[in-house]
Amino acid sequence: MKLVDLHTHTQASDGTTTPGELVRLARECGLAAVAVTDHDTVSGLDEAQAAGKECGIDVVRGCELSTSTDMGEMHILGLWLPEDVSLLQGKLEYLRRKRGERNIRIVEKLQHLGIDISIEEVLDEARGECVGRPHIAAVLIRKGVVKDIGAAFKEYLGYYGKAYLPKEVLEPEEAVRLLCELGATVSWAHPMLSKTDEQWRDNFLRRLVDNGLSAIEAYHSEHSDADVRVCTDMARRYGLALSGGSDYHGTNKPKIRLGVGYGGLRVPYAVYEALQTQRARRGLPV
Ligand code: AMP
Ligand code: ZN
Ligand code: FE
Ligand code: FE
Repeated sequence: MKLVDLHTHTQASDGTTTPGELVRLARECGLAAVAVTDHDTVSGLDEAQAAGKECGIDVVRGCELSTSTDMGEMHILGLWLPEDVSLLQGKLEYLRRKRGERNIRIVEKLQHLGIDISIEEVLDEARGECVGRPHIAAVLIRKGVVKDIGAAFKEYLGYYGKAYLPKEVLEPEEAVRLLCELGATVSWAHPMLSKTDEQWRDNFLRRLVDNGLSAIEAYHSEHSDADVRVCTDMARRYGLALSGGSDYHGTNKPKIRLGVGYGGLRVPYAVYEALQTQRARRGLPV
């Protein structure tokens, strides 16, 4: 069975493989297509696409944007981004600058807790331009403050952690509109990750659809079979396509493997073809 993975992260944000390594790994795993969807940056896409041409696998240019809601962060994926994203670039730069300010304040909180850590060490840890909590976690692990990334988030960096600070993010409508205006396929990422009820999801979906949402990420490492069914049903009711991916982060999420997630994920090639068909009908390039 031909499979794809349309949600992955690289060193351009908080993954641990280079874009080229990720694409070659996807090819070795036998995937027919892979989308590179780093947080708040498109800087890994040229390298990924070049690697795809070289080893013979479709590479979809993408990114993942965080948005704020009364139920916490919801994530939006843009797939099939064009090479020229100047319409989006200013916004991405703004989001990364805000991340930078937040990272400094998180490090200060850690310092006040008596931990020996500096912002320079965090920036050193990052290989790309989008720096976040996983990079801070990596320093904490390297210095022996915590044993692994799970502990780093539980004790310090996660919502209930001692050094937690919220991140400045976009409004959902704005994120969808920005990506839609670029001609991207816009998908609501991992809708079932937070515990919302059906009414909340319907309200939220209405806001997204009104601004150009085209798909729902039904298949995801953290989605159960029941979650997939809820997503498939939402997609049917709103006339949306399905998308799916592992949300691979390399060794930052060591149990999630490319293409197969925790082992049971399968994103059929037909999902990829249906997204392409939807784009063709809209006169958008693939
Ligand atoms: P940030 O973008 O700085 O807010 O960090 C969020 C990122 O941290 C997410 O995209 C995940 O990749 C990662 N993350 C969040 N919680 C955990 C966790 N418990 N363990 C490992 N990684 C996590
Ligand atoms: Zn991430
Ligand atoms: Fe996400
Ligand atoms: Fe992601």
